[in-house]
Amino acid sequence: MSDLLFSATLPGSLAALEAADEVVRSGRLSVAELLDQLRHAFIVLGSEARVVGYNATALAMLGLPESLLEARPLIDEVVRWQHAQGDLRGDLAHLLDRVWYHLRRVRQTGTPHVYSYTTAQGLTLQGATMALPGGGWVRTYTDITKHAQTLSALRESEERFRSLTELSADWYWEWDTECRYTRFDGRMGRDDTLTERFLGLRPWDVPSLNLPRPEDWAALQAAVARRQQFLRWEVQHRLPDGRIVWFALSGTPMCDSQGRLRGYRGVGRDITPRKEAEAAVHRLAFYDSLTGLFNRRAFQDRVGQAQSAAARSGLWAALCFIDLDNFKDINDAYGHAVGDKVLRETAQRLQAVVRREDNIGRLGGDEFIVLLEGLSQDREQAAWRAKVVGEKIRAALEQPLSVEGNEVLATPSIGIALFAGEEERMEDILRRADLAMYESKAAGRNAVRFFDPALQERAIQRAELQREMRQGLRDGEFVLYGQPVVDARGRIKGQEALLRWIHPTRAQVPPAQFIPLAEESGFILTLGHWVLKQACSLLAAWHADPVRRDWKLSVNLSARQLKQPDFVDSIVGVLQQTGADPARLKLELTESLLLHDVEDTIAKMEALAARGVQFALDDFGTGYSSLGYLKRLPLTHLKIDRSFVRDVLEDPNDAAIARAILNLAESLDMVVVAEGVETVGQFEALRGMGCQLFQGYHFGKPQPF
Ligand code: C2E
Ligand code: MG
Ligand code: MG
Repeated sequence: MSDLLFSATLPGSLAALEAADEVVRSGRLSVAELLDQLRHAFIVLGSEARVVGYNATALAMLGLPESLLEARPLIDEVVRWQHAQGDLRGDLAHLLDRVWYHLRRVRQTGTPHVYSYTTAQGLTLQGATMALPGGGWVRTYTDITKHAQTLSALRESEERFRSLTELSADWYWEWDTECRYTRFDGRMGRDDTLTERFLGLRPWDVPSLNLPRPEDWAALQAAVARRQQFLRWEVQHRLPDGRIVWFALSGTPMCDSQGRLRGYRGVGRDITPRKEAEAAVHRLAFYDSLTGLFNRRAFQDRVGQAQSAAARSGLWAALCFIDLDNFKDINDAYGHAVGDKVLRETAQRLQAVVRREDNIGRLGGDEFIVLLEGLSQDREQAAWRAKVVGEKIRAALEQPLSVEGNEVLATPSIGIALFAGEEERMEDILRRADLAMYESKAAGRNAVRFFDPALQERAIQRAELQREMRQGLRDGEFVLYGQPVVDARGRIKGQEALLRWIHPTRAQVPPAQFIPLAEESGFILTLGHWVLKQACSLLAAWHADPVRRDWKLSVNLSARQLKQPDFVDSIVGVLQQTGADPARLKLELTESLLLHDVEDTIAKMEALAARGVQFALDDFGTGYSSLGYLKRLPLTHLKIDRSFVRDVLEDPNDAAIARAILNLAESLDMVVVAEGVETVGQFEALRGMGCQLFQGYHFGKPQPF
């Protein structure tokens, strides 16, 4: 150790000694003078451990006064002095004990004692005590302050690195030249199960989820082969405890002083939270959070892909548009929580019924879409297959669901549009499927319909007509016609007001065409109000006419009008404004009105009936009204539908129906009106059955009032 030290602190010591020998021999310098030139300090102790020699460097380096050493003091004196100066710290008696212990030990063993300490001035000195052959010792001192500073800086940097790796979530790693892990520090180093899993292995030897094939690692291996740095190489592992983690590795080559590759070193980082956050964002961006199905944006992508696939393969694909028939009512009646459950259940049923590769999405609200691909190259066959799936979906959704003890019915209306190429935009395909879906609704709901071009044509026309209708009312194109209602003796008892639209270019648009349209858009409220006002003004005018003053005027009402909360008030308002006698007004309702909220209907009818207004049930026999309700409605008249009147002479069945209606009306205390009487034969047959009022071309066609 001391040899090493000497050779280390006296570089080229042999050559230096030879040079010194030469200088002394030549007499240019005395040995003492030479020793004073040394950068090392020494003190020679005699056999009693008194100072017997020293060089000038000893005085300077140890900061001892010459007077002290000149007096040949015991080593104890020197130590005492150093202690007083603050160069040697600790208990003095103890210090002296240790000095003597080492002097004896050095003499006994012949091995030098090497030690180091820092003086009050901040010098770090390395001392060595050696035994001299003739007894006594020599003590040398070397100023190693610089060396000590380098060492402590090194230690500090090592500590800094350690605390960095300890504190941070990252870890430090090293590979050997074969890319095998040889070392982990920090987080990874503390986890035995993890280090066990990786140490001695190359990164690609550890099974990973995202890079399962050897070629997945080619890019990293190429970078390493070129001794390049690599940054954030992301690997996903399943840990023994089942956790799935993402690590990002960055590394840089490690070379020795000759520039030879010793391996790689770098840092690893657990990026699982970031990856999870990314996945959550992805989910939010592309999936519907309520049902987990694709959202509109994601579905757009799928349809785009399906279009390219269909263009390549020549196989037709289909988009099924599914709308729940009464979802709004469910939401209103049971609340949103139940509504949400219905939507989730619907999503599950859809998933259960279609193939796994069929994509399902929710566009929002109660609108779902299913994408069916690879149906067939033949259009008819494709349509048939899509229809089969559509029917399967319908059958699955038609089943009542039980939510919180409630049996809920959420039947679907389904529209299907086929597509094969890439020309159309998803929105256009969707619009076609949507139109077909409306057709299902029009067909009575809980149905599957296909889009065909005529549908589109009709839709365009409908939109056009709706616009024209509003304009037409403003321009006075609507006119009320009247058709007489007569008694058994042919005397006019009243009129039915029938609306006509005298269209400037389309001639007359029949009510069967524009009334449903007006109902669909809600325009019927405006139109119906206008009809009522016209009719009541007419009634008021008849009052002054001796021929007409006792006539009744029938006005047709739409279900939508009756559903308005202010229905009763608005009728009463019109009656008051015009001064019409309520007892002359007869309102005609159809049975479809009884499908919804019967109690509300009854209450409104009662309120008006109390003022004398009469009610007739129109087109009776064609609907599906439960006879039970009939009894509860304040109806005064039943109108036998034209279809029974037409064949009343030829078809015994129709005659039987007409007779049954007449009997029923009698038992309910209602008056029957036969509609569509075109011949005298029909008139007489019905009169013979006891019918009291008649209406039809036989007595008069509808004409302007
Ligand atoms: P509705 O109330 O059953 O009216 C009777 C329909 O039968 C009228 O058709 C009338 O012209 C027709 N008709 C009368 N006698 C005969 C006949 O002998 N033979 C044949 N073949 N037909 C006859 P229109 O005027 O085309 O009205 C059709 C339907 O439109 C009406 O059926 C009614 O439901 C509805 N409607 C008409 N005006 C209005 C209105 O102002 N408001 C509402 N909401 N609906 C209306
Ligand atoms: Mg009518
Ligand atoms: Mg009718």
